[in-house]
Amino acid sequence: MADMRIVYHPAYLEHDTGVHPENRERLVSILKYVEKGGFGEYLKFTRPDRADLELVYRIHDEEYVSRVKAICDGGGGYLDLDTPVSEKSFDVALLAVGGAVRCVDVTCSDGSASFGLLRPPGHHAERDRGMGFCIFNNVAISAEYALENYCRRVAIVDWDVHHGNGTQNAFYDRSDVLFVSIHQSPHYPGTGKLEEVGMGEGEGYTINLPLPSGAGDGTYSLLFDHIVIPVLHEFRPDLILISSGFDAHMDDPLSGIALSVEAYNMMARKLHECAESTGSGLSAVLEGGYDTEIIPKCFINTVVGMNGQDAVERETPAEKKPLESRVREYIEHFKSYWNIV
Ligand SMILES: [Zn+2]
Repeated sequence: MADMRIVYHPAYLEHDTGVHPENRERLVSILKYVEKGGFGEYLKFTRPDRADLELVYRIHDEEYVSRVKAICDGGGGYLDLDTPVSEKSFDVALLAVGGAVRCVDVTCSDGSASFGLLRPPGHHAERDRGMGFCIFNNVAISAEYALENYCRRVAIVDWDVHHGNGTQNAFYDRSDVLFVSIHQSPHYPGTGKLEEVGMGEGEGYTINLPLPSGAGDGTYSLLFDHIVIPVLHEFRPDLILISSGFDAHMDDPLSGIALSVEAYNMMARKLHECAESTGSGLSAVLEGGYDTEIIPKCFINTVVGMNGQDAVERETPAEKKPLESRVREYIEHFKSYWNIV
């Protein structure tokens, strides 16, 4: 098996959110699973450094970054109703950005696939505010970093069950970053409609594929085969970044999409094959996912899939029949931008 690099830092456990679905046990559950299953041989762990503030300022206003620091220095508080921070959260959030950046370094310099096992998550974080459990937009900052240091084009595939509003807005008018999101709708944060396709130079480079509660493996598979993968082939990214939430699983307490654990392997393998044939790197960062029994299984299926391997964990899909007419409607919608059928 080829190497799979996992970027992790023990300080990720120190972002204290109190009684909250986004808590340290999410990472602890994955680490325990990896140890128990003996996957440590295959997953090579690397520790990141804190990201430079200059890099964070590419995506976030300095004023916002200073505000987060002041709240944390003052002992903690809330960035919005859902997003608590503790004294150490500012430093941990910079370390999470550093983790996403390290993933880019690993993947772009030696070609290994990588996964940033990090928290707090990032894809909801906007230029001037944290929200939805997110402080800094890890994936958006790492995409900027990749463009500056290694790449001409980056694709971000966001399969977290929630729309990645912050990531979308960071690149909405740009054609060097393709943003593709499959998410539940209607659902938090309320953005990510089909009609949100980017603007100016970026028109067509934002692809939102909203799905109703209950959608599952078959529908996701059709979306990958008919839209996500063909568009990636046409876009020819140098790097594919996955915003990898595990909250679209059927057991997740916060959402209604009904993926099985095997769906994560299916999606990761399709991206692996695409990356192989287009010569792009493949890297992922953790976003959401709140069932600590399930997320370790989604994680292992994702990381082996990113290396082209079969699922480790099996599960019968919950979705009986894929939403074929919905997929057809989306193909029709994006035909004017991309060569898809
Ligand atoms: Zn989410």
